[in-house]
Amino acid sequence: MGAPTVKRHVAAALNAARGAETTPAADAVVSDLLARLAAESRRGLTGVLNGTGILLHTNLGRAPLAREALDAIADAAGSASNLEYDLESGTRGSRYDRLGALLRAATGAEDALVVNNCAAAVLLVLDTFARAADGSPREVVVARNQLIEIGGGFRLPDVLARSGATLVEVGATNKVRIGDYAQALSPRTALLLRVHPSNYRIEGFTADVGGAELVALGRRAGVPVVEDLGSGALTDLRAYGLPHERTVQEAVAEGIDLIAFSGDKLLGGPQAGIVVGRAAAIQRMRANPLLRALRIGGPTIAALGATLRLHLDSAARERIPFYRMLATPLDALRARAETIRAQLDALDLRAERVQGYAGGGTLPLAALESVALAWRPAHGDANAAAARLRAGNPPVVARAEGDRVLIDLRTIPPERDGDVLAVLRNAAA
Ligand SMILES: *Cc1c(COP(=O)(O)O)cnc(C)c1O
Repeated sequence: MGAPTVKRHVAAALNAARGAETTPAADAVVSDLLARLAAESRRGLTGVLNGTGILLHTNLGRAPLAREALDAIADAAGSASNLEYDLESGTRGSRYDRLGALLRAATGAEDALVVNNCAAAVLLVLDTFARAADGSPREVVVARNQLIEIGGGFRLPDVLARSGATLVEVGATNKVRIGDYAQALSPRTALLLRVHPSNYRIEGFTADVGGAELVALGRRAGVPVVEDLGSGALTDLRAYGLPHERTVQEAVAEGIDLIAFSGDKLLGGPQAGIVVGRAAAIQRMRANPLLRALRIGGPTIAALGATLRLHLDSAARERIPFYRMLATPLDALRARAETIRAQLDALDLRAERVQGYAGGGTLPLAALESVALAWRPAHGDANAAAARLRAGNPPVVARAEGDRVLIDLRTIPPERDGDVLAVLRNAAA
């Protein structure tokens, strides 16, 4: 923190002391100043320890990056780079070519394009294919059970309206059949859009249309099929004891023309929106002037490239923090909880079995068994105790449940356990 900022807070603390009805004790003035400085240091973007047990917590920045991704950012962004420069010919190159080969290798698609986030990717697809050149409305066909809202204002019907396309809803909330799509086709149909139900499930009497079935219909009608996949798994999550989550490779193999997904969900990389699919369709998107407004920056390209390289080597996948967190066995979590507990005898602290979630709008029903440090504060106010943890250095984000505060250890890197201990000790003091 710069000297002028410190000076401003010292002046404010002194003014408050002068203005007080009774002159405060020196200690009170000092602790008021310290609280002001601590609040100042939390105002900007700062690292926190995620004790929520939600691996991809959107409010906490979703996927933490791998060491390799951080190094790639430092290498590419700490100096000039070949962002838009072809080193072989010494002429202008394209930033969009930097990730093409990696994404083709990772997904099996013909070509790829990367923009700012998945919402931007969907917007670009719609603007490219569903915007009427002559002003006459073009239609996008979506099943009623897929009209999703993701947190933070991404609501599919609204995004569609924004793009100038007309939404044609087909089927019922619980059952959608291929005949519903077929009936909705018209000369105005621009796209058949499939949306992954990322953060909800419809259960009971349900029927759905598979990707391959939709592709067959699209081919017959000469209409492209697009899928907003959202979570973007490149790995079968059953290997980690989770339910199956549709992968990008599966969507590509079924012949979906364009598939959009996020970089910072199950891919475990930086915020980005990736579109993979048919080369001709990607080419049309590259030519859209809107691309310039949605473009991705150099540090993101560097981090995404490094993360994709880790995916391509299955032995390296768990160097991606999301997969390391998923793979951590319960015994290891329990041992860490015991080690911390043993060093904080004075607190009512125990290791407790809890359930976490993948988060990031993925796998909404799949609980992850985990272990938390459960702290029952002596004063009995768990919400106040959680606030004390958030005021720590670093801030620890935990959840209050009844009369205790739970710090889930799956979402905290083991090398940060010393910080958890210090923050807990301070919060209890
Ligand atoms: C998460 C998600 C989005 C939005 O992705 P961002 O990268 O956050 O913009 C869009 N569609 C689906 C299906 C999603 O799951």
